Amino acid sequence: MALIQISEPGQSSKPHERKLAVGIDLGTTNSLVATVRSGKAVTLPDEKGEHLLPSVVYYAKDKSILVGTAAKQHKITDPLNTITSVKRYMGRSLEDIKAKESPLHYEFVQTDSNVPRIKTQAGNVSAIEVSAEILSVLKQRAELSLGDELTGAVITVPAYFDDAQRQATKDAARLAGLNVLRLINEPTAAAVAYGLDKISNGVIAVYDLGGGTFDISILRVTQGVFEVLATAGDTALGGDDFDNVIANWIKQQLDLDADIDKSLRNQITHAACQAKQTLTTERSADITIKFPDKEATLTLSREQLNSLIDPLIKKTLLPCRRALRDAQVELEEIKAVVMVGGSTRVLRVRDKVGEFFQQQPMVDSNPDTVVALGAEIQADVLVGNKAESDLLLLDVVPLSLGLETMGELVEKIIPRNTTIPVTRAQDFTTYKDGQTAMSIHVVQGERELVSDCRSLGRFSLKGIPPLVAGSARIRVTFEVDADGLLHVSAREETTGVESGIEVKPSYGLTDSEIEKMLLDSMEHAEEDIAARMLHEQQVEADRVLEALAAALEDDGDILSEQERQKIDAAAQQLAKIKTGNDDRAIKQAMQELDKVAEVFVSRRMDSNIRKAMAGHNVDEFKAQD
Ligand code: ADP
Ligand code: MG
Repeated sequence: MALIQISEPGQSSKPHERKLAVGIDLGTTNSLVATVRSGKAVTLPDEKGEHLLPSVVYYAKDKSILVGTAAKQHKITDPLNTITSVKRYMGRSLEDIKAKESPLHYEFVQTDSNVPRIKTQAGNVSAIEVSAEILSVLKQRAELSLGDELTGAVITVPAYFDDAQRQATKDAARLAGLNVLRLINEPTAAAVAYGLDKISNGVIAVYDLGGGTFDISILRVTQGVFEVLATAGDTALGGDDFDNVIANWIKQQLDLDADIDKSLRNQITHAACQAKQTLTTERSADITIKFPDKEATLTLSREQLNSLIDPLIKKTLLPCRRALRDAQVELEEIKAVVMVGGSTRVLRVRDKVGEFFQQQPMVDSNPDTVVALGAEIQADVLVGNKAESDLLLLDVVPLSLGLETMGELVEKIIPRNTTIPVTRAQDFTTYKDGQTAMSIHVVQGERELVSDCRSLGRFSLKGIPPLVAGSARIRVTFEVDADGLLHVSAREETTGVESGIEVKPSYGLTDSEIEKMLLDSMEHAEEDIAARMLHEQQVEADRVLEALAAALEDDGDILSEQERQKIDAAAQQLAKIKTGNDDRAIKQAMQELDKVAEVFVSRRMDSNIRKAMAGHNVDEFKAQD
């Protein structure tokens, strides 16, 4: 009988039929969609010929929704209903947003689901919905231009995006009716667009400075395969901040105080952005600010701009240094530095980055489109238009993933900077006799104690057969998929009972938190090891005391009064010392107890053997061996 053939998921059953796939750069400031035409990735323009779609959504009173340039025009007159830089809110709680933004740019409404909503005159909307509006426009643009429905899309995210932010991006795509083939990191996509898979083997750096985020990635290219060695960055640093420092300079020049009304503030920010862009080609820029009763004109020179933005550029070099260190590569090993993002059009940025890396960086004529192009190249591979072997992208886990063990200690399962996708399993066992359930607490961070790490989620494994402590075998598996999302499962090996979660943390980590966690782990390394040893000894002491109490209860009668008193005294001593913070003293007290309890242990063993042998003879046991 002939076997029925089934094509691979995503692969066309008719090899000559091309599938329509797009690459989407869902940017903080601008978004783009790209497709492959005549074997080459190109970005698609709107009907006016514009390729960049400003990531701005306007919610009108009549409940109509505008996206892009049309929406941007409302920014000054109606800032509260014009949502910009919504990417910063993706996967974030209201507390996260409040901690970052002061004053808040919008009116937020807290909901039960932990996803805050922005109050607009057309109703309350979440960041996911706002992003979905942007994605819908790009999807429509692609379908109109390609004349067919899309099979799927590859969407890019900053390398720093954590699980919650990636999930939120996926949710937005689903809401827009897009089939997400994969989420890939923006710098990785950019490297692909620069054709760096074609260069001979070596290490490259991707410097991506956009409107609202900065990413640095150190990649290793080996025979066309990209491996991300390390990533670092700042999700709150970009061209918007350049605009802000220029805006502050304008306010200072015009003697305006800090709390000017919103519409004037937006006018100034807009003028600042214009001046910045002018200065990439001109040596000076004129700035005009309109007041109800007058007009003011200022001139900003390139030198002045440079001194204003230098501290911000310098701020990007810190993560560069860290990424190099994490990747364990020397500056001299970097074969190429790739510039990505609209803000790398700023000449000063190129100069400073070149100075830092001691080489001329590579700059595309359109550094803001390269991410979308790289995503598209990957999308084309994923729908089966190209051989899978053409490209293989690997990304890394930004912070270690682990779980809580006894004594509130963290056992790291996947160390930070491990390339993904990755699956790691580790066996654990029960702590108490007869324990039938186990609580699994998934955490992320570099520190040794649970309280210093971030909690990602919990679940419990029930139905473990009641066994002696330490004999059950529970295999916990951590799996980070190609999108960087974590799935954790636990399985008791003898019965096969299983349980698990897909970790969808309710809020994300800010990059400053990530940075703080990394710094803390370095600063507290010694302290952490000491704390770990103490906790370990305390857990062991608890176990010993508990086992002793159980044994005394069962067989205490085999001891003389005097022997019993000695054991009790040593146990009391251990119980007292274990509450202190000297791990060596605890260990010593345990050894002490061991010594005085020796007689009990050996006599108990004899008595148990005698009990077991009652009515039998030794030869019988031997015969069974
Ligand atoms: P994102 O990835 O955050 O969406 P982009 O890569 O599109 O951002 O970059 C947007 C940023 O680039 C904005 O801050 C914009 O002002 C800046 N930008 C665009 N063109 C220029 C230019 N000619 N000179 C300086 N900055 C520019
Ligand atoms: Mg970008």
